[in-house]
Amino acid sequence: MAPRAWSRLVVAEHRVVWLRNDLRLADHPALHRACDDSQAQVTALYAYTPGQWRQHDMSLVRQDFEWRQLRALATSLAELNIALVVIEANDYATLVPEIVAWCQSHQVSALYAHEAYELNEQARDKHLQQGLHAQGIATHWLHDSCIITPGQVLTGDGRFYTVFTPFKRNWLAQLAAHQVQLLPPPSKRPAPAIQSTALSASAPGLARDARQPLLDTLWPVGEREAHKRLAQFIADDGRRYKDQRDFPAINGTSTLSPYLAAGVLSARQCLVAAEQHKRHHADQQGLDTWISELCWRDFYKHILTGFPHVCRHQAFKRDTDRLPWSTHEAHFAAWCAGQTGFPIVDAAMRQLNETGWMHNRLRMIVAMFLTKDLFIDWRLGERYFMQQLIDGDLSANNGGWQWSASTGNDAAPYFRIFNPFLQSKKCDPDGAFIRQFVPELAHLDAKRIHEPHAKGRDVRLAYPLPIVDHGKARLDTLAYFKALTPP
Ligand code: FAD
Repeated sequence: MAPRAWSRLVVAEHRVVWLRNDLRLADHPALHRACDDSQAQVTALYAYTPGQWRQHDMSLVRQDFEWRQLRALATSLAELNIALVVIEANDYATLVPEIVAWCQSHQVSALYAHEAYELNEQARDKHLQQGLHAQGIATHWLHDSCIITPGQVLTGDGRFYTVFTPFKRNWLAQLAAHQVQLLPPPSKRPAPAIQSTALSASAPGLARDARQPLLDTLWPVGEREAHKRLAQFIADDGRRYKDQRDFPAINGTSTLSPYLAAGVLSARQCLVAAEQHKRHHADQQGLDTWISELCWRDFYKHILTGFPHVCRHQAFKRDTDRLPWSTHEAHFAAWCAGQTGFPIVDAAMRQLNETGWMHNRLRMIVAMFLTKDLFIDWRLGERYFMQQLIDGDLSANNGGWQWSASTGNDAAPYFRIFNPFLQSKKCDPDGAFIRQFVPELAHLDAKRIHEPHAKGRDVRLAYPLPIVDHGKARLDTLAYFKALTPP
């Protein structure tokens, strides 16, 4: 990053928008509000906090994606005469006084930002608000990341829902009653009095990744790119989503999760695009199923808000924290590396390690395998996912892990345990996905590829035997869960 070069401001009103997981121009409530006075000077702030990111296990792939998107956004902001200033601090504790000092020295009148729902971020924002108010600087917190703000979808007696189906019913009813309105991007501002930070090609201190060319191709940045993906998915695959979404060898899902996690797109934009398409095209039940996935996204953010103990990685169902989880290091290492001897699990983990992304069905399979077959604490899997995922998001990740481990919001009882071989045959019937990521099995036919050592060890294969016996592991896990429930 280039040295800071900030000139002093002479304008009457200076507003600042703190960009977080909302790296876009369109449908951006905070930016929209900050720009509602056409004469005000508006500056965008971005906080680069590498120590905090490490503490939160933010993957290098995600950090890289975010930085590349920031660079793209800086160009778009510059066209609107909005300077982008990057404040670098190791963690939140050191960041807050930096932002306060910066705002003070640049005569900022108000800071605009979107509400965070995670505990650490809420504590950070509270400190910031106190610091700014002490200097006479106003703060405006707006809701952004959900389609319906957490706390607005509640049971009849005002409590947070704990299971998805009734939440979704209420969520859909509210959407039917109030149409979602999108906000336009801001228009061009008066020339900025502040110089933007010059952004280096990659995030400062971030090691170049050997996967970079692949990552650039798989995950190109920019709002335009995100909208192109959204439009393409809705027009080409939306109708078939319901039928295709469980087959990882088919590109049947939107792959928009990195863009939603970094806020290159808003969930509202996704919903409105799907609804508009449905209005003009018949036979779009597939898109209804896709809208349900957007609802899952909101659901887990509601859970985070209503049951904040999950932010501390405590089990949603507290009694399940008494489970005697295994700490088998070799099993965990085999799972991480995609060397378990269960081809679908290994293919999935290798997809994650190579591309930073994993198909939803596979996330469920590998999470259930780690927690129910290896009986390893879901928190280790949750953490490893965050360290690898390009779309790592506390609420969706924690929700998905706890759902799979039967410690969270799964309406089904703990004895739902996937059989990884059967799952493999169902979701990858001809083995195409396994062949792509486990090349040492690529020559096997569709029958053998799911369980290559089914008839005893095949010494010609450079592929491990299954590290556990699924049948036995299942019974052990059931017994552990059963022991929790009073007779
Ligand atoms: P699509 O099927 O096209 O769905 C559209 C969007 O809806 C997604 O981009 C995502 O934002 C949202 N969405 C879809 N399914 C879910 C879901 N079950 N829960 C919450 N939101 C959902 N998603 C993340 O964004 N970040 C995570 O860190 C994450 N970790 C997960 C961990 C586990 C163990 C499991 C089972 C699921 C996890 N998910 C996570 C949810 C889901 O797997 C991904 O959102 C999805 O695979 C992304 O692919 P897509 O964009 O093609 O999704």
